[in-house]
Amino acid sequence: MDLDRLRTDLESFTRQLSREYYMQGAGLKDDINFTSLYSAFPSLFTFENLESIKQAYRSSFSKTEKRRLRYLLESFHGEIVLNTSSKLQNKFLSKESTGILHLNNNEDVSYRSSLIKLYNAGSRNEREAIWQARNRFIEAELNPIVEQIYYMENGYAIKNGYNDKLHMFEELSGINLSAIDKDMQELVKETESIYVELLTKAAKEKLNLKLSELKPFDLQILSKSNEFTSYFPKEKMFSTIAGFIGKMGLDIEAGKNINFDIDIRDKKSPRAFCCPVVIPSEIYLVIYPRGGEDDYMAFLHELGHAQHFGNMQSDLEFEFKWYGDNSVTEGYAMTFDHLLNNEQWIKKIIGLNSREYLNQRLLNELMMLRRYAGKIQYELQLYRDMSLKGKKELYSKITSDIMKVEYPSSEYLTSVDSNFYCARYLRAWMFQHALNEHLTNNFGNDWFINGATGSFLKEIWSYGQMLNAEELLKEVGSRGLSVQPVIRSLNSVN
Ligand SMILES: [Zn+2]
Repeated sequence: MDLDRLRTDLESFTRQLSREYYMQGAGLKDDINFTSLYSAFPSLFTFENLESIKQAYRSSFSKTEKRRLRYLLESFHGEIVLNTSSKLQNKFLSKESTGILHLNNNEDVSYRSSLIKLYNAGSRNEREAIWQARNRFIEAELNPIVEQIYYMENGYAIKNGYNDKLHMFEELSGINLSAIDKDMQELVKETESIYVELLTKAAKEKLNLKLSELKPFDLQILSKSNEFTSYFPKEKMFSTIAGFIGKMGLDIEAGKNINFDIDIRDKKSPRAFCCPVVIPSEIYLVIYPRGGEDDYMAFLHELGHAQHFGNMQSDLEFEFKWYGDNSVTEGYAMTFDHLLNNEQWIKKIIGLNSREYLNQRLLNELMMLRRYAGKIQYELQLYRDMSLKGKKELYSKITSDIMKVEYPSSEYLTSVDSNFYCARYLRAWMFQHALNEHLTNNFGNDWFINGATGSFLKEIWSYGQMLNAEELLKEVGSRGLSVQPVIRSLNSVN
């Protein structure tokens, strides 16, 4: 297949796949029929095509074309892996969306809605019962499937001439995972005392527990601020956010490009998501609203993605719209969701002036960063010897040590995002920090209501993911990616 035809077919395939993800995640369909989707493009994900991309990459002298081909190669490998494991992926998604948890009090809860139910539960005992039922379900129903996927993916890396999955990812993405891990372990060390202090205080005040008595399902409760829920009404979320977005000179729908799905549906994924189907003209933002700051945060995060996709140049090369360094799109998403940690935004947009609230945000931020530091440390070891022997214990140990709370091993594979996405998130953290600094320096402390901010953002969004996170920061004249400013800012709040 020639490259032009391959790109056209890929774009058409990608759009259909994205539409399926949207429908399934929105609860409009029970499962995704990957098998029939892949069989509609029988000559697309073949080793011959993979070879053609490799050859074109090796012989290309044009800088832009070479970059397109590298992104294409990286993503093409991902698609072949997904294609190879499509039966297992189907099975996994269908188990997830139809799974029912049987609680000890004879109540049944759908797996998909169980986390929401857990966080809204009236008592700690009730939370623990749901948590344990979830873990039993994951161990019995989901783990056997993801274990097979793990071995299949390792086999694929070897078959393609890489030492292992780590080597394959680093070669194709140009991202050094060990360097990020090293940075993050420094962050863990440097923020240890403030984390323990805030966690101990929250445990005592909110649950009347000692640090040593905490369990993982308590953490979400501790990082939230029920006493501030009234500041984040469900009904006003859209208009509040659309309001300040407008003041930045942006249109929340990006000229009708973004569709908002905020209806309540039982089978809707509890996790908000943004799904581009046609870039830039058909983007979906799906959220299951529950009320409170979580909704605002999830909505802002997905809105950052949606604005990025909805403002890309329509004639941008296919690879620069769909592929490239996802630290960039995650960085834009985080630039928006981190407004909840921004003292000025909280005051001016939410009307909340509270040190206590900001400390709670800090605890939440520390939990997230430490959780991700644990993920990258664990994933480097998970894939190193290509065997699952001892990995349950390893997951439990690394996560518990970093979080200071005992984690069971049930999620040792289901909590792992594909293709080292944790590295993209961590880079996005550093990226958003640098971008926020740039916005503050150029458009003021209240850049989020400055009419000049929007045109700057639209300009950088229009590039899609042509540039990676480091290059983009350089392009706008900002410092590079580093964890140091993140550590400094975490230690400066109290
Ligand atoms: Zn995201």
